[in-house]
Amino acid sequence: MNFNTMKKILTAVIFLSLFLANTSIASLPKIVATTTIIEDITNKIGGDKVDVVSLVPIGGDPHLYEPIPQDAITISKAQLILVNGLTLEGWLTEFIDNSGTKAIMINTTTGITPIQSSTYANSPDPHAWMDAENGIIYAENIKNALSEIDQENQAFYQANFDAYKKELETLDQKMKDLIQSIPDEKRVLITSHDAFQYYGRKYGIRLESILGTSTDSEAQTSDINRLYKVIRESKVPAIFIESTINPQTMKQIAKDTKVKIGAKLYADSLGEPDSPGGSYTGMLLTNTENIVNGLLGKSSIEVEGNDAENGGKSNIIFFIIFGVLLVGGAFVMFRKMNA
Ligand SMILES: [Zn+2]
Repeated sequence: MNFNTMKKILTAVIFLSLFLANTSIASLPKIVATTTIIEDITNKIGGDKVDVVSLVPIGGDPHLYEPIPQDAITISKAQLILVNGLTLEGWLTEFIDNSGTKAIMINTTTGITPIQSSTYANSPDPHAWMDAENGIIYAENIKNALSEIDQENQAFYQANFDAYKKELETLDQKMKDLIQSIPDEKRVLITSHDAFQYYGRKYGIRLESILGTSTDSEAQTSDINRLYKVIRESKVPAIFIESTINPQTMKQIAKDTKVKIGAKLYADSLGEPDSPGGSYTGMLLTNTENIVNGLLGKSSIEVEGNDAENGGKSNIIFFIIFGVLLVGGAFVMFRKMNA
């Protein structure tokens, strides 16, 4: 075989593999989910037949998210946008209008009876995913949407949904049983923001939080005082922080009332893929186990990031830099004097 023939074959192979790679990616429906929770449920139903990304990244706060320029590109290429609705994504409507996308937008909470805010009129609580039975409704809405845009794979989506539904039903019962193992008077869940109303209503645990159903506000002294009272009266051994919210206020409350931080709960985002909260079902189960162990006084966590410690650290860094400059300066002066 001469050099030219080899070159031709090599070029053909490169073009063929590029073509195959392109067609396999291009043929998958492009789907945008607003949160990592919706992204995971979509992956469970869509499997390798869909290409789904979440706009709000892992650990991001979907109430306060600010879209980046890349999001506009992602949205403009999408065929389907899956949103939570129920006032979660206040930033989304204007953003979608401006992006000029032709994608179909589906509300994954359609069919769920929302919990209305007791403080604000027409302000439903968006955290419906905290109830595993609602998770089945999310999954069904997603299954229907996928079947609509990709009719060829309808049977595949249906089979995945059927299996996932069974998994969620089993999980739902397990969560109920776990919460029931906490003595009645200690069944009080104290967290940063009101993300657990659906959870509390379903699994039978009372909720108390500093912030409302959105994180878009400051903690009020009256709310903090109310929590002190609840902690004293219920004698709970632990209160809880959330993975997407700054823990400092909860940490201070724990210190003042001499209770522990039970765990860091997953509220508005999944955890990293390899963590126990890396999937929707994993998040619900891990939260439940942590709530039970925390309220039974079996486990607690230390929260990092004490202000005084940070101050100490920056002092040390300052002295190191100062020391290096001093020695360096002396060295340069010494060299000059001897030159
Ligand atoms: Zn929230």
